[in-house]
Amino acid sequence: MSRNSKTLMNRQYYLDAVLLPQGWARGAVVTVSEAGRIARIEIAPPPLVAVPPPGAERIGGYVVPGMPNAHSHAFQRAMVGAAEYRQSKQDSFWSWREAMYGLANRIQPEELLVVATQLFVEMLKAGYTSVAEFHYLHRQANGAPYAGNNALWEAIGEAASIAGIGLTFLPTLYQTGDFGDKPLKKDQARFALEAEDFVRLIGERVQADRRRGSGTQRTGAAFHSLRAVPISTLAAVAKELAGINPALPVHIHVAEQLREVNACRRANGKRPIELLLKTGLINAHWCLVHATHSTVKELQGIAAAGATVCVSVSTEANLGDGAFDAARFLDMQGHLCIGSDSQVTVNPAEELRWMEYQQRLRRKRRAVLATDTEPHVGTRLWRDAAIHGAQAIGQPVGAIAAGRRADWLVLDPHHPSLAGAAADAALDHLLFAGGHAAIRDVMVAGRWVVRHRHHDAEAALGEKFANLMSRILHPQAPMHPQVTPEN
Ligand SMILES: [Zn+2]
Repeated sequence: MSRNSKTLMNRQYYLDAVLLPQGWARGAVVTVSEAGRIARIEIAPPPLVAVPPPGAERIGGYVVPGMPNAHSHAFQRAMVGAAEYRQSKQDSFWSWREAMYGLANRIQPEELLVVATQLFVEMLKAGYTSVAEFHYLHRQANGAPYAGNNALWEAIGEAASIAGIGLTFLPTLYQTGDFGDKPLKKDQARFALEAEDFVRLIGERVQADRRRGSGTQRTGAAFHSLRAVPISTLAAVAKELAGINPALPVHIHVAEQLREVNACRRANGKRPIELLLKTGLINAHWCLVHATHSTVKELQGIAAAGATVCVSVSTEANLGDGAFDAARFLDMQGHLCIGSDSQVTVNPAEELRWMEYQQRLRRKRRAVLATDTEPHVGTRLWRDAAIHGAQAIGQPVGAIAAGRRADWLVLDPHHPSLAGAAADAALDHLLFAGGHAAIRDVMVAGRWVVRHRHHDAEAALGEKFANLMSRILHPQAPMHPQVTPEN
């Protein structure tokens, strides 16, 4: 009985064209379990073409894996567009950080819930079907810890549930103001967490994850950076985290700014990535975010460890960080994934397009990140960033394959950006022809969360988000007119 009822709960889809790990297939019958996992994929051997089984939902269009977003700070969505003016000729990452701290110190849990829900809906519509949230807002605005549940942490989980996006929540250890054990500055007080509390809280969450058995949400951990966590503390805590779960995803901002590379050398005699690799702790569960300023040897070390590197070209460009050498790292068989980071761009197609363009500008060549076995730049970048993004967030996503979660996008072949494109060029159009507008439907864990470019939460969110942004961007103007929806 139970077996039969389980079988009945399975859903079947007939996909006209789908990108599988081995390449494009036509007429695939995909069975998705009640839990949202892909149970089976059947393709009739050529020249036969499978026919839709009775009761199967037919999906016309190009079906591709949803993209994991391996690096996000949700609250920063509330300052996008508001820091694009000059304050001085020396404006840089560091002056932007001051503005970001201003927001980080004001935002309340109920506001974070609205901002994160809006953001997660935007992510889904753009093709990100799961997100790793690198979260270092731990305390109340007055610097006091939360008694009991942490409302700021819970806001992120609740936002992900409302939006229907997969979530790897990464509570982030943040202890020092700079290298050399500098104390936290006043405007960093909200980020403070003791190492013992950090390990205990992660342990409790991991246990709760096991009890809950969510198919879409899990816990990982992050170290903010080597600026914010001394290397000795990092090494001790990382060992304890591995004791909780050796496969726990662990992320760190590693070498985003030259100034931090130089400060690290002065304090520790080594560059940040060099220092991290020397601990011997780096493995496939680690994700190094912004390995921007790295030597060839460091990149070889990361690739050999099997760790992922997360690149966010849009944020790195916006903040004037520098350019990551993606071509070199990919040539080393390095595992590269992408993230929306500061949310200045929430669009995986644009992230990947700029990853390629950065290389074209630098090397004065075209199709730099294609390979002999995959000449289509779009396919190569999307497929690999999806699978390595899944590795980084520690979830069974990133490919349409048995055992993986049914997280996929349907591209509308009738959209002008895809006009005339055959399946094998569909991802080239997605990246290079404005094809993100062709993302018609989005599925997460076997559930449609976007249909015909519409998300159910949008209508209720729009007004709330607009009013909140007016308050956040104009805190001195309490009488700022409320935004009312247009009729
Ligand atoms: Zn970041």
